[in-house]
Amino acid sequence: MGKALCVALLSVFSAILAACGLPTDWLEGAPPPPMENGLTVKLLAVGQGDSILIRTPEQTILVDTGDTSETGRLRAALKKECVRRVDKLIITHPHRDHIGGAAMVFRTCDVKEVYDNGQPTTTNVYRDYLKTIQKNKIPSRTIRDGDVLDLGGGAVLRVFSPTQEMVDERGMQNGKVNMNLNSIVARLEYGDFSMMLTGDAEIPTEEGILRRHSPEMIRCKILKAGHHGSKTVSGTEFLRALDADAVLVSCGEDNEYHCPHPSVLDRYVKFEMDIFRTDQDGTITVRTDGKAYTVETERNGKKDAEAKP
Ligand SMILES: [Zn+2]
Repeated sequence: MGKALCVALLSVFSAILAACGLPTDWLEGAPPPPMENGLTVKLLAVGQGDSILIRTPEQTILVDTGDTSETGRLRAALKKECVRRVDKLIITHPHRDHIGGAAMVFRTCDVKEVYDNGQPTTTNVYRDYLKTIQKNKIPSRTIRDGDVLDLGGGAVLRVFSPTQEMVDERGMQNGKVNMNLNSIVARLEYGDFSMMLTGDAEIPTEEGILRRHSPEMIRCKILKAGHHGSKTVSGTEFLRALDADAVLVSCGEDNEYHCPHPSVLDRYVKFEMDIFRTDQDGTITVRTDGKAYTVETERNGKKDAEAKP
């Protein structure tokens, strides 16, 4: 390769990195650069599945990785956000529409730690996920009700579900295994801001949380709708306890499951929650300084959140 071409390629490479706001040595294993103060949460538009990118002042966290069929969309989203290092990869439960992009994330990002609910399954995508963790010696942990993860810069993730007993029972419901019930449910907290992450947790999981925790413990500003807003989530008592201002729903355009369900949307309206949906709004971005917060959507602009009185 000619010297001139080399120099040209290097300057293009540096320009790309500069555009991403990254120092060039980041790719060589240096710690990520300090990010601007505040917390950003992005509900990425990855079709019928979940993937949530969280950036605290110190860490980058990815909660779920979308479906196997939507890996390209997740990859493009992570590239756009210049994500090369994932400090914590959290898999709420091992269904394909949550774990599907994990292999791509392991291939393209430097994943420092993995957290999941420890509920095994027999799918190839889950086996590959375990194999990659073992092969690359990535520290991994199961998380349980009562755990608190330090996300750096003052942000924490407070876990409310599952319990060990729930995982031991494999989410049995009416004689069948329902892995959704053991999804990790946790509250992201930063100053006065809080957001409930729910994976695909359904009403029995919500009822368990209500039995084990007081409404004061689980109240939050924003709810990520469980199970893509299907009719088996967001029970009245849970919504009353959360007292959230807004709900974010991750679902595919014209999805075959007809999510979100009209009866669930009616409940959100009844509780005066602002509704944001990835199928209509594209990627949804929440920014907070720990006091106020804004919700911005890829397709429909910015909306200053209105806290309930
Ligand atoms: Zn799901």
